Amino acid sequence: MRAQPKASHYINGRFVDDEQGQPLEVIYPATGEVIARLHAATGNIVELAVEAARAAQEQWARMRPAERGRILRRAAELLYRHNDEIARLETLDTGKPLQETTVADPASAAEALEFFGGAVAGYHGEYVDLGGGPFGYTRREPLGVCVGIGAWNYPIQIAGWKSAPALAMGNAMIFKPSEVTPLSALRLAEIYTEAGLPAGLFNVVQGFGDVGAALVAHPAVAKVSLTGSVPTGKKVLSLAGSHMKHATMELGGKSPIIIFDDADVENAVSGAMLGNFYSTGQVCSNGTRVFVQDGIYERFLKRLTARTSKIVIGDPLDPDTQMGPLINKAQHDKVTDYIEIGKSEGAKLHYGGAVPQLQGFENGLFVEPTIFTAVTDDMRIAREEIFGPVMSVLSFSDEVEAIERANNTEFGLAAGVFTRDLPRAHRVIGELQAGTCWINTYNLTPVELPFGGARQSGIGRENSLAALSHYSQLKSVYVETGDVDSPY
Ligand code: NAD
Repeated sequence: MRAQPKASHYINGRFVDDEQGQPLEVIYPATGEVIARLHAATGNIVELAVEAARAAQEQWARMRPAERGRILRRAAELLYRHNDEIARLETLDTGKPLQETTVADPASAAEALEFFGGAVAGYHGEYVDLGGGPFGYTRREPLGVCVGIGAWNYPIQIAGWKSAPALAMGNAMIFKPSEVTPLSALRLAEIYTEAGLPAGLFNVVQGFGDVGAALVAHPAVAKVSLTGSVPTGKKVLSLAGSHMKHATMELGGKSPIIIFDDADVENAVSGAMLGNFYSTGQVCSNGTRVFVQDGIYERFLKRLTARTSKIVIGDPLDPDTQMGPLINKAQHDKVTDYIEIGKSEGAKLHYGGAVPQLQGFENGLFVEPTIFTAVTDDMRIAREEIFGPVMSVLSFSDEVEAIERANNTEFGLAAGVFTRDLPRAHRVIGELQAGTCWINTYNLTPVELPFGGARQSGIGRENSLAALSHYSQLKSVYVETGDVDSPY
């Protein structure tokens, strides 16, 4: 098997297994080949991980933040150094083309380790002047043992985005990758150990939703950060709430991109393509409702069609490939069903929509990049998250209408605006109900900027100093410098 790790889990600085756990097969989505066989965690494995994390965390929290940061930065260097090897592993696990994974996946995890490894030493509590003698101050204290639960679309990025701020702040983490993509988090765990992270601080536990739920409910766990779908988010948030635990929810979306008449047409097309076709459309922040103003509509569609027709679909390990397969059969069924739904709802299948037959990849889960036009706001393809390369193009005539229709969704993860009119760009962004917005670009998520959603798309933020606040709690201290003023 091409990507078999030494064992299923990584606990207390080493690989461990428990063959009593439910079998978990890892499939390369381009061919259907089994690339690894693992076991989901048993109750015993969950206990081992929690115990290791709890035992290691106290000492870790007492270290100078700058020293903790140095270890994270060493791990970032190792991720950069092993970029190509990890990118290949991520390609096998997800089916995403090497062209993407070599620039986006381990690199984005490394950026998070680098950023939080540096930022934490400058992240302080505050001095509060209470007038005259007394004063107050606040301390930013770690939460303890944090649980990270990942989705399958950006496995190592998610593991890095969650573990870096958690560890920098003095917490321990138990990370449960998606059962569909369990491999790269194990590699990250090895790298942390090689960088000098003490054993027990980053543990990887495999499993399905029940393992995630067991971790969240464990009395020794203080926080959960989930990346996943809205229905899972609701379950995990209510479980965490019933135990009064901290929670960050990075969930799904149906985000709008609004393209005004005065936009640069090539940039708008680039944004719409990046926001629908990158990672075969399996990106939470994708702008799958593309609102195009009447005056630019024909030009936009012409260039969009021409450029989409040049997308190279095929072997993810070929460096020339631009689009790989979908992650698994369930996702493939879901996306092809939605294409049928779009047609039956009366949208016009403008481009793609078929399952390509690729020689040597007959069992691959491919689907063509797909563009629907004549889409109306009430159609299911314009309301529900598809999580595949299916773009809905909608036309509009004025700004007020575009804002109202863009906001007409239960989600609020992201939004984009393309225009050369800067006052309008900022005015429209100010009206859009979304946590992560772009003007004249789309889907860039640098670590310096907070990332996360509004409304059903989530609670809390990843990246930036905001993430450090979500992995810590404030303690306020009142300091009296005079006598206690007492009526007794
Ligand atoms: P999912 O919700 O099916 O699973 C996510 C994770 O939750 C998996 O690890 C799964 O095992 C675990 N899980 C499932 N049930 C659980 C339970 N009851 N308790 C605890 N854990 C449980 O999502 P997915 O199919 O892996 O990923 C796709 C979804 O993730 C899409 O909706 C996408 O928009 C979203 N996503 C969001 C972001 C973001 O940052 N906002 C990023 C990537 C993906």
